[in-house]
Amino acid sequence: MAYDFDLYVIGAGSGGVRAARFAAGFGAKVAVAESRYLGGTCVNVGCVPKKLLVYGAHFAEDFEQASGFGWSLDEAQFDWATLIANKDREINRLNGIYRNLLVNSGVTLHEGHARIVDPHQVEINGERFTAKNILIATGGWPQIPEIAGHEHAISSNQAFFLKELPKRVLVVGGGYIAVEFAGIFHGLGAETTLLYRGELFLRGFDGSVRKHLQEELTKRGMDLQFNADIERIDKQADGSLKVTLKDGRQLEADCVFYATGRRPMLDNLGLENTGVKLDKKGFVEVDEQYQTAEPSILALGDVIGRVQLTPVALAEGMAVARRLFKPEQYRPVDYKMIPTAVFSLPNIGTVGLTEEEAREAGHEVVIYESRFRPMKLTLTECQERTLMKLVVDARTDKVLGCHMVGPDAGEIVQGLAIALKAGATKRDFDETIGVHPTAAEEFVTMRTPVAG
Ligand code: FAD
Ligand code: NDP
Repeated sequence: MAYDFDLYVIGAGSGGVRAARFAAGFGAKVAVAESRYLGGTCVNVGCVPKKLLVYGAHFAEDFEQASGFGWSLDEAQFDWATLIANKDREINRLNGIYRNLLVNSGVTLHEGHARIVDPHQVEINGERFTAKNILIATGGWPQIPEIAGHEHAISSNQAFFLKELPKRVLVVGGGYIAVEFAGIFHGLGAETTLLYRGELFLRGFDGSVRKHLQEELTKRGMDLQFNADIERIDKQADGSLKVTLKDGRQLEADCVFYATGRRPMLDNLGLENTGVKLDKKGFVEVDEQYQTAEPSILALGDVIGRVQLTPVALAEGMAVARRLFKPEQYRPVDYKMIPTAVFSLPNIGTVGLTEEEAREAGHEVVIYESRFRPMKLTLTECQERTLMKLVVDARTDKVLGCHMVGPDAGEIVQGLAIALKAGATKRDFDETIGVHPTAAEEFVTMRTPVAG
């Protein structure tokens, strides 16, 4: 049967755009549907605007530290509306770039909500199109628990468009988004409390990293409340919010921001018209080659709930395009050694196994750890300290994990990730000449283990 398209991609986010562009480049006839914004979450309400706000927040400490280097400034003023307007302008520019990328690579763009009507057919804006394969790349959506008064809370989707910087913000959650946004609000001058239900935030990260960031954020004056969870939120006559915790305590805030994970975006997608199955957490179930239980339908990115990071969605998009249209170049995505950064202030950068994971996996480990005051701060009052940590296999000498909390940790860890992927040993690290004077050189000069 002749189809309208070889591949119909639903969702023009990180993964969908990558798969569509490369499939078209390999000669396939491709369409992509987008209901909301070109570039998806990362470009519009994720990585990019978030990083711009983090840069904005960082200026507060730059101004503070400048006096140590002889600079004197009038009192610094911050205007939220300017930051948001400039951020919006940049995102609009990126939307245009995504449009050109798609159109110039020969992909047909359909703007509207797409719904699958049968395993080879998609309906959009009242029209139906047939396709040999359909790719679900619809991403995720913030999930706020349905506590009483949850309608008074916002998620990251709204935070990027607030009209004013709230004076008092309560951030709920202990993952990437909570920690990053708490840093943004605090840095920009809001009185910020981070509320997390467990003992210590950033579950899954290395224990030393979690404790170190806790200490650094506390030093900066952020109010961290662990073992705390909200029971209800009430709006008061003056518009502020009264928050009642499960332990009975009450807090007041002008904004309650929930960052408690993301669900797959499957709203009105028509999965009931297909054999696609969902996993226990509600994400689309796929095999190693992103194939769903319906032979003509594939899925990737956040909607499959594996690793919710843009570079992972990009890699999956590439793998799908190759698998379908350039099989001789197909290589499976390697989910080991995925580097990642949390753009908290200070940043976390990490790649490989945490100490806890390495021990649990049965490795006999040697741990190297260094804490120091970054050189840039020695002329300032700032007492911030950087943490660097290496987890090494005692038997093979292979470096299993690198972890850092400190300025530019994400930038530094990207290079280390290549070394770890190539199987670098501690001896390789030791024999590498440092770049002096940098913070990063500490990763090649740690000689004395702190634990075995
Ligand atoms: P998305 O990018 O979400 O794209 C899905 C697209 O599908 C959307 O544009 C949506 O509108 C569209 N869509 C949905 N349903 C339909 C439909 N029925 N019809 C038509 N279109 C539809 N990752 C990082 O690596 N680094 C970061 O710093 C980072 N920061 C983040 C910060 C925040 C606040 C958030 C929320 C996420 C962040 N992420 C970050 C995660 C990253 O954004 C996601 O992992 C990535 O965007 C997933 O790509 P995707 O292609 O799976 O989905
Ligand atoms: P995460 O899964 O990272 O964190 C969710 C947090 O919310 C956890 O601390 C979790 O606690 C807590 N939580 C979950 N449910 C509840 C509940 N019902 N009540 C109270 N607390 C709850 O999700 P995020 O929303 O922060 O981010 C989603 C994903 O987006 C990330 O996992 C990441 O993959 C990606 N992302 C990446 C970024 C980057 O690369 N820099 C930045 C931002 C997002 P517990 O630990 O106890 O389960």
